[in-house]
Amino acid sequence: MTEKELLTFFKNLDRAYFIDGPSKAMAGLDHALPIGYGQTISQPSLVFEMTWHLALEPGSKVLEIGTGSGYQTVFLAAFGGTVYTIERLEALGVPARARLEALGYSNIHYRIGDGSCGWPEAAPFDRIIVTAASAAVPAELVAQLAPGGRMILPVGVPGDQDLLLVTKDSEGEVSRRVLGKVVFVELVGKYGFGDVLD
Ligand code: SAM
Repeated sequence: MTEKELLTFFKNLDRAYFIDGPSKAMAGLDHALPIGYGQTISQPSLVFEMTWHLALEPGSKVLEIGTGSGYQTVFLAAFGGTVYTIERLEALGVPARARLEALGYSNIHYRIGDGSCGWPEAAPFDRIIVTAASAAVPAELVAQLAPGGRMILPVGVPGDQDLLLVTKDSEGEVSRRVLGKVVFVELVGKYGFGDVLD
């Protein structure tokens, strides 16, 4: 994935396609926007940045926690190999799947449930992206990251969240780097903020 390839894809993708309801008219703005159920479609420039830092390769096996509208997922499917995406809210996950299938992507596995535990049966993953903030890096996700893998995720409390890049070297040594401050909805579930799944 070169920066030019990513930029071309980013510019040609119509974010309005991933939005139903009143936010659709604002799809062109570089803001997170409401998509219902207290959730948001991510800010386009942040989707670009997170995708870039993931350094996807055509063979990458990618885990995404928080499918939301499917907007970030399409970047993973276009530049990665196989994508495993988990959304806790059926009301968002089902339409997101329909959108991605209608675009012709057949390299995506979908799950409705608690993604804070990852997808153990499909692990290890070369890349992991979490699009909701947890209080700490979920140990389950670090365990499911392959040697040589990269994980990007927001960590912190509302008003003070860092975007982290977590890498695991070929020996299994884990390092982390803060990429900047961000604003995300909370990751809920077993390894998120409380076990409040409905
Ligand atoms: N990148 C997505 C997009 O652009 O549409 C936006 C994702 S939104 C900021 C975060 C999503 O994470 C929400 O849809 C929320 O329901 C989901 N989520 C929160 N906790 C989760 C969990 N434990 N497992 C799976 N999904 C979760």
